[in-house]
Amino acid sequence: MTASRAVIVGAGLGGVQTAHWLRAGGYDGEIVLIGDEPDLPYHRPPLSKHAHEPDEPLDVLRSEAYYRDHAIDLRRGVTVESLDVGRRSVTLAGGEAIGWDYLVLATGAAPRRLAAVPSELDGVHVLRTAGDARALWARPLAGASIAVVGAGFVGLEFAAAATVAGARVTVVELADRVLARVVSPTTSESVDRFHRQLGVDVRLSEQVVGIDESAGAVTAVTLGSGARIGVDGVLVAVGAVPRVDLAVAAGLAIDDGIAVDSRLRASAPGVYAIGDCASWRDEHGVRRRLESIQNAGDQAAHVAATILGADRPFSTTPWFWSDQGGLRLQIAGVPAPGDAVVQVGESTTTELTVLHHDHGRLTCVETLGRPGDHLAGRRLVGKHVDVGAVAGGRATLRELAKSAQAAA
Ligand code: FAD
Repeated sequence: MTASRAVIVGAGLGGVQTAHWLRAGGYDGEIVLIGDEPDLPYHRPPLSKHAHEPDEPLDVLRSEAYYRDHAIDLRRGVTVESLDVGRRSVTLAGGEAIGWDYLVLATGAAPRRLAAVPSELDGVHVLRTAGDARALWARPLAGASIAVVGAGFVGLEFAAAATVAGARVTVVELADRVLARVVSPTTSESVDRFHRQLGVDVRLSEQVVGIDESAGAVTAVTLGSGARIGVDGVLVAVGAVPRVDLAVAAGLAIDDGIAVDSRLRASAPGVYAIGDCASWRDEHGVRRRLESIQNAGDQAAHVAATILGADRPFSTTPWFWSDQGGLRLQIAGVPAPGDAVVQVGESTTTELTVLHHDHGRLTCVETLGRPGDHLAGRRLVGKHVDVGAVAGGRATLRELAKSAQAAA
């Protein structure tokens, strides 16, 4: 390959792994990896899963030496302000322009804000970056009253960790169940029960309609039902929106994220997008955007291979995990709206297996505290299985996964 330059915008998991896989695959051009966060790139999942000490070190993705040893020019705390896809260059804050032969956009997602909860008030938080986590976890929790708006993964993980750390936590969720957008009602019910048993005050079909403040700090939230809860802090955890501003300004196609094709190519030559910021067309022509470590990591490997000359569509079995206090939720696959849903065997608050299937073709396996079923689920998603036998206890998912492997 002739000397060339790959510029990667965003130094989260997707960006860092793209650089890694380019080098691992033999790319011998320049790699410039640009991220606007000041910290050495780090794993985001731990930020919400346990209470952090004030000077707790980040769980970094790679050591500083790694970037040096692999000739990856990591620019931290540097914002890319614009892209010119015609001239093939990016412009950094400060005015420096960098040309590229390959441009990978891995700009991630930003927390959604709520008009009813002004983010400039002291005590109002979001949780996406290490900076957000430092501000949030610096707040004294023992005996404090904290409202969490949104019963999604990040909200519930924080709610459990803050409760364990001694806070009185109220979760306010607009839907009539927790994790409503991502798991079955059966799993929602177990997760809800777990949190209530832990001591979390879960308010469903509710929303924050007003805030009280004193001297610029939040002091209470008022809910749609009229209830007023005195608070020391509020975490707004109502999902994330893909960061597409650069792509929009550059005229790239957008469709729930930066629109890429099955090879993860954006709508201009030499431009690719991966991870939370990108939506790709899957093998059935359906546009998908996933916010997960697995997806960002797999797409990073794929885009690096594409740049290095491979020509195959991106295809993946999505999987995800969420640790909420002592509860481990794992999901393999993505359910479709019309799928049938069955529970497998007995369940407790912390142990559950739920299958989604389309006439026997497994589309998704949700588990609580059953890592074996999760791993078997990852191997079986997309395959036809005897759902009746598993649901009736005549076969286990692990047995079916073993026979599927033997038959392959
Ligand atoms: P990101 O990790 O968001 O990285 C994008 C980077 O690009 C950011 O650093 C951003 O600041 C930077 N950037 C954006 N625009 C510019 C610009 N113009 N110039 C320079 N830099 C820019 N997933 C799981 O699978 N399991 C979990 O348990 C889990 N827990 C999570 C907990 C928390 C608190 C959060 C926030 C996320 C969690 N996730 C989890 C989701 C997972 O972290 C994301 O899916 C993953 O980080 C996506 O990687 P990415 O590289 O696409 O984006």
